Amino acid sequence: LEDPKRRVLKDVFGFDDFRPGQAGAMDALLGGRHVLTVMPTGAGKSLCYQVPALVLGGLTVVVSPLVALMQDQVAALRLAGVAADTINSSLDREANVAAWRRVAAGQTRLLYLAPERLMTGRMLAALARLDVRLIAIDEAHCISQWGPAFRPEYEDLARLRELFPVVPIIALTATADEATRADIAARLFADRVETLVLGFDRPNIKLIVEPRREGRRQLLRFVEGQAGRSGIVYCLSRKKTEETAAFLVEHGVRALPYHAGMAKEDRDANQNRFMSEAGVVMVATIAFGMGIDKPDVAYVFHTDLPGSLEAYYQEIGRAGRDGRPVEAHMLYGLDDIRMRRQFIEGEDTSPEHKRRAHGRLDTLIGFCETAQCRRQALLSYFGEQASPCGNCDNCLDQAAHADGAAEARLILAA
Ligand code: ADP
Ligand code: MG
Ligand code: ZN
Repeated sequence: LEDPKRRVLKDVFGFDDFRPGQAGAMDALLGGRHVLTVMPTGAGKSLCYQVPALVLGGLTVVVSPLVALMQDQVAALRLAGVAADTINSSLDREANVAAWRRVAAGQTRLLYLAPERLMTGRMLAALARLDVRLIAIDEAHCISQWGPAFRPEYEDLARLRELFPVVPIIALTATADEATRADIAARLFADRVETLVLGFDRPNIKLIVEPRREGRRQLLRFVEGQAGRSGIVYCLSRKKTEETAAFLVEHGVRALPYHAGMAKEDRDANQNRFMSEAGVVMVATIAFGMGIDKPDVAYVFHTDLPGSLEAYYQEIGRAGRDGRPVEAHMLYGLDDIRMRRQFIEGEDTSPEHKRRAHGRLDTLIGFCETAQCRRQALLSYFGEQASPCGNCDNCLDQAAHADGAAEARLILAA
């Protein structure tokens, strides 16, 4: 019953969580709609079509402007065990013929082509006889005549929507202002297009991270400071979820537990109260949250280190959907780091997946321990540039120090 795209994400690519925007783009494609995805470089655009390609089966055609980019992608996919091919001018005739044989035999899942090669009469006729289920156009801004990267070969891609009328098309780019976006959409899509533009910043969420000292007390102090507002408290285990909810209730907080080990009717009842009553604190494992759209969640409190920076971003994003100032507060300690390492070691995946999972955990720990602006660190992980935000513990500490320094100067001057 598991979501097939999540299965592929995990089994093939070794990731536990989607990056922002990825799941939305995939769902749209899997639902037969076209997608225009605008996300910063490094945000993870490739997965937006690579995962659906594997969920859909058949053949996915990927258009990419540079031979070097195609080679890299194909090599990376093959390393992950995915049947990917490219036919391009840098390969000798034999290699191209061999690649085409695999494609024609239905063995290839993703075929990378330059636009001018795709749009030849022969290639189009050959593809028309195959089971093409998805078309991805990378660096799609190259189609816009107004853009600095215009490539005449891209213009011809506008014919794809008539040539493959029932195949969903995804166009991806990191650089598209409104005008360019409209231009891309007008050229590639007639209708059914979903545009996903992602800047990742959620400036109304204040970010605070601290070492766990006396965890429950830190939590209680925080929750009491939020008196009467709705919030989500994430715990690592079911047991800790129950204990923490009971602890808060003992101290007069309207807290309710939520985890997958509870009877469904209890879980649903608690969720309904959280959704409909004011000021309920949901103490939950990560089982809670998917598809919850409550606009006035005032905070998300992590009593333990989350699973990854992707998971952290997703989880804190449940606060402040109404745009009001809200807080994301995280505690972490050596115990959770050790536990996370054990999780990774205990998983039934390849050594390469494990190595990368440890690397992502190190990045998360680095985020916890940085003295830099947290938002800057988080956004830069997703490929987005930002200046210091003024709304995280590190920025606020610095401001406090700066005030202190000004005060000291005044005192010394007097
Ligand atoms: P873009 O095309 O947007 O510049 P890429 O598709 O090349 O970005 O991905 C950038 C990096 O992000 C890659 O190293 C990729 O493995 C990583 N990445 C993508 N999605 C995820 C995810 N869900 N979890 C962890 N890492 C991811
Ligand atoms: Mg890319
Ligand atoms: Zn900051």
